Amino acid sequence: RNQIFKLSTGSKAFDKLLDGGIESMAITEVFGESGSGKTQLSHTLCVTAQMPGPNGYIGGKVIFIDTEHTFRTDRLRSIAYRFNLDENTVLENILCARAYTSEHQEAGVFKLLIVDSIIAHFRVDYYGRKEMAHRQHRLGQLMACLQKISEEYNIAIFITNQITSNLNNLEQGDPQQPVGGNILAHASTTRISLRKVLNGKRIAKVYDSPNLAANEVEFTVTSGGIDD
Ligand code: ADP
Ligand code: MG
Repeated sequence: RNQIFKLSTGSKAFDKLLDGGIESMAITEVFGESGSGKTQLSHTLCVTAQMPGPNGYIGGKVIFIDTEHTFRTDRLRSIAYRFNLDENTVLENILCARAYTSEHQEAGVFKLLIVDSIIAHFRVDYYGRKEMAHRQHRLGQLMACLQKISEEYNIAIFITNQITSNLNNLEQGDPQQPVGGNILAHASTTRISLRKVLNGKRIAKVYDSPNLAANEVEFTVTSGGIDD
């Protein structure tokens, strides 16, 4: 029951980049420009988390914290269809703020917690330089809480993050900088950057990880979610 498991992104190449997938007992962060696939990956994970996997993983339910109002059941149906799963069952196994039932309270059934995105409210609620220390303190508390949940209940935590729009970074040749500073950098176990390239392709790159090489892979977003 307490064995670490890994959840498929939907793309074989992306899974390989992550040495199998999104890991339990850890926080995995993706960040990238708007449209780079963060929310599509979140939706795909909602489905793959429900499927049996390696090392005796039997699948489980998902908690989706939707701070940007981009949670879409029609996307989940279409991804469930790709994986030959019953669409209604897939939806019933996902707790979004809008679809909470008492069944969801059952302990131990949740395998994945998604926060899409971790930072949106913080950036609005704590605006400007003066508020920065306070914001970082609260963000740190939230991340510590997520870390504890991931370890105590053996679940995978998946968070999405935004990037800076700082032109100075562009000039230094590195436009993809996550926001959230040191607090997020230290709290996330694995950090992945997503970016769009030509002809609808996307690139996932390991940005910071204790155990993964800094490789990158190509993936796509399809009607069936993330794919090769
Ligand atoms: P963000 O990183 O901002 O969360 P999203 O994950 O919402 O970005 O990605 C949105 C992009 O995903 C769209 O611009 C489109 O290219 C792609 N996408 C969304 N739905 C589909 C679909 N049904 N089929 C193919 N691609 C899709
Ligand atoms: Mg999004």
